[in-house]
Amino acid sequence: MSKRVINPSRNAVVALAAAGLGASMVFGGGAAFAADSKTTPVAANPAAAVAAQAETQAAQAKVAQQAKAAKAAAAKKAAAANAAKKAAAAKKAAAKKAASWVKPVGGYTLTASFNQGGSMWSHKHSGQDFAVPVGTTVKAAHSGVVVKAGPNGGGDGPAYGNAIVVKHANGQYSQYAHLSKIKVHVGQTVKTGQTIAKSGNTGNSSGPHLHFEIRTTPNYGSALNPAKFLRAEGVVI
Ligand SMILES: [Zn+2]
Repeated sequence: MSKRVINPSRNAVVALAAAGLGASMVFGGGAAFAADSKTTPVAANPAAAVAAQAETQAAQAKVAQQAKAAKAAAAKKAAAANAAKKAAAAKKAAAKKAASWVKPVGGYTLTASFNQGGSMWSHKHSGQDFAVPVGTTVKAAHSGVVVKAGPNGGGDGPAYGNAIVVKHANGQYSQYAHLSKIKVHVGQTVKTGQTIAKSGNTGNSSGPHLHFEIRTTPNYGSALNPAKFLRAEGVVI
């Protein structure tokens, strides 16, 4: 009989062990839930969910603001680059204009050309004639400094009438003759296209026109073909 009796103390240990196991399982489940609740606050706590949502919205707003700022910075940079490009182009155009030559008069008819013979000249014709009415605006064909200006051809002789000679940076000179009015003085700096005189019919002239020379010195006798010179500079006459 005694052998068949179940030891009550042993039973208690088993029961305790079972209870312990159960408790541990419950605790484990609880822990798992707790851990899970961290990643899903919405289900766990409505207040926390609202806070989290607000935080998310704030973060999204910040990201949007940063993107907007980056976009604005990029646009500003592009505008600056564009402005720099425009400034460079304008500078280039200004430099090109400063380096260029222009016609000394507009609305003309080309008459006597360079080296043309005739009773009007003691030697061959030393310039290019532009037939224009008296009082036509005469412009500096290129920037430079006035070295001669006055009657008697500015010192070159009475045949030229009132005349101007301008020295250019390339070491050459342009001369304007038979003028009715001189608007510059010796030593004056003139810009390309600047008005320097009014055309006329003074000196040994067959009619109203501008006599135009390109010279290698300030003086008579060093003239080049002015029409050929201007065309080489890209001036259409
Ligand atoms: Zn002439």
